[in-house]
Amino acid sequence: MQTIRGFRDILPEQIWLWQKVEKEATSLFEAFGFKEIRIPILEKTQLFARSIGEVTDIVEKEMYTFEDRKGDKLTLRPEATASIVRSYIQHKMYASDPVRKFFMIGPMFRRERPQKGRYRQFYQIDAEVFGIESAYIDSQLIFLLNELFKRLGLTELSAHINSLGCPECRPSFQKALLTFIESKKDRLCENCLRRIDKNPLRILDCKIVDCKEALKEAPATLDHLCGDCTEHFDTVKTTLNQQGVDFTVDKSLVRGLDYYTRTAWEIQTTTLGAQSAVAGGGRYDGLVKELGGPQTPGIGFAIGFDRLVEVMEQIDKPLEDVPLDLFIISLGDTAMEKGYHWSCQLNQAGIRTEMDFRGKSMKALMKRADKLNAQSVLIAGENELKENAIILRNMKTKEQVSLTVETLVPELIKILKK
Ligand code: AMP
Repeated sequence: MQTIRGFRDILPEQIWLWQKVEKEATSLFEAFGFKEIRIPILEKTQLFARSIGEVTDIVEKEMYTFEDRKGDKLTLRPEATASIVRSYIQHKMYASDPVRKFFMIGPMFRRERPQKGRYRQFYQIDAEVFGIESAYIDSQLIFLLNELFKRLGLTELSAHINSLGCPECRPSFQKALLTFIESKKDRLCENCLRRIDKNPLRILDCKIVDCKEALKEAPATLDHLCGDCTEHFDTVKTTLNQQGVDFTVDKSLVRGLDYYTRTAWEIQTTTLGAQSAVAGGGRYDGLVKELGGPQTPGIGFAIGFDRLVEVMEQIDKPLEDVPLDLFIISLGDTAMEKGYHWSCQLNQAGIRTEMDFRGKSMKALMKRADKLNAQSVLIAGENELKENAIILRNMKTKEQVSLTVETLVPELIKILKK
C-alpha cells in the first residue's frame, strides 16, 4: 500500500522544522492579537463555490468533492478563508464584537498536478482579520509575514503587492479588459474564451504561455482605481516604506480567487524554482455579506507551510535528537516488573526514560541504550535486586552509584533532574 498521488507522510525526522515554524508563528500571532480557530476539514461544496467563485481553477478543476451517503455534496477544504467567514457568520461573532483576528494551521486539499512544492494535500498557516477597513491592517499583515520570515531566517524573499479595486471601480476596469480581450480573442485558449462571458478577470490567471504573452499589455486594475481605493493603496505603500518592508508593486498580480478587493499580495522566493509563491493574501470586503452576514470588511493571508519548510531545509541544519535521560536494564521477570513501574513513574516526573521488554541479554540492552543515546543506564539484574543495590551508571563519566529499591524513584529524580 502506498500513499495517494500528491499525498505524503511527514515523518518524525522531518517534523522538527514544522514544529519550529508552528512555535514561531503562534507566538507572533499571539503578540499581534490573533486567536486560534479550528475549522472542519469538510464543508458543503456550496460554501467554496460561492466564495472562491464558480468559474475559478480551484472550483472548476481542483476540489475533492463527493456526495455522502445521503446525497449531500461535500468538499475537502481547498483553503481556509471561506470556512472562517462561515464560522464568523454562523456564530454571529459580528454581534458582540465585529473586530476579530484569527489564525489556523492545517491541511488543505486541491487536485493539482503534483510536483515539488505542489501537493494535493498541503498545509497552510492562515490568518484572517474581520471588521477593519483601515489600510493599516493591510500593512500590518504584510509586516507580520515579513517579521515571521525574518525570524525563521529566510532572506531570498520579495513581496509583490497590487490593488484590485472595489465594486465602485470594477466596472470601468472590466469594460477596458473586455475591449482588450476582444482584440486578442484569436490568441486565447479555449478555457479563456469560455471565461470571457462568465468571469473575464480570471483570464488574467491563465498559466498557458501563449495566453500570457497575448495578455501582457492587458489593462490593470491599478489604472482604474477610484479615489478611495487609490488613497487606501497609497497608505499601504507609505506605511510599508516607513517600516522598511521591501515590496514591488505588481500590476499583473490578480490572485486566483474571486473574493478579493483592494490590496492583494504574494510573497515569492527565488529558491524554490517554479513554485515560487510561499504566501498569498488579500482583502475581501464583500465576502462576509456575500455569504449571508452583515457588511463587514475582511482581509487575510495563507502561508504555504510545505514550501516554507522546503526553503528552510536549504538553510537550517537538522537538530540533533534529544538524548534519553535514562535507559532501564531489567534482567529477569521480577526486575522487568519493577523496571516497568519505575519507568512509568519517571516518565510522569518528566524524565525521558525507556526500557526494553523483549527479555534481551545485558550486552544487547547496553547496545540499545547506546543507540537511544541514553545519558544514564539503570542496571537491575537478579543480583542487584537480591542485594538491594541497583546501579546507576553515567554513560559519559562512567561513574556509578548504588541505589536502594525503597528510595529509588525519588533518588533518580533528584539526580537526573539536575
Ligand atoms: P493561495 O491562496 O492559493 O495563493 O495559497 C496560498 C499559498 O499556499 C501559496 O502561496 C502556496 O505557498 C501554498 N499552496 C497553494 N497550493 C499549494 C499546493 N498545491 N501545494 C503546496 N502549497 C500550496
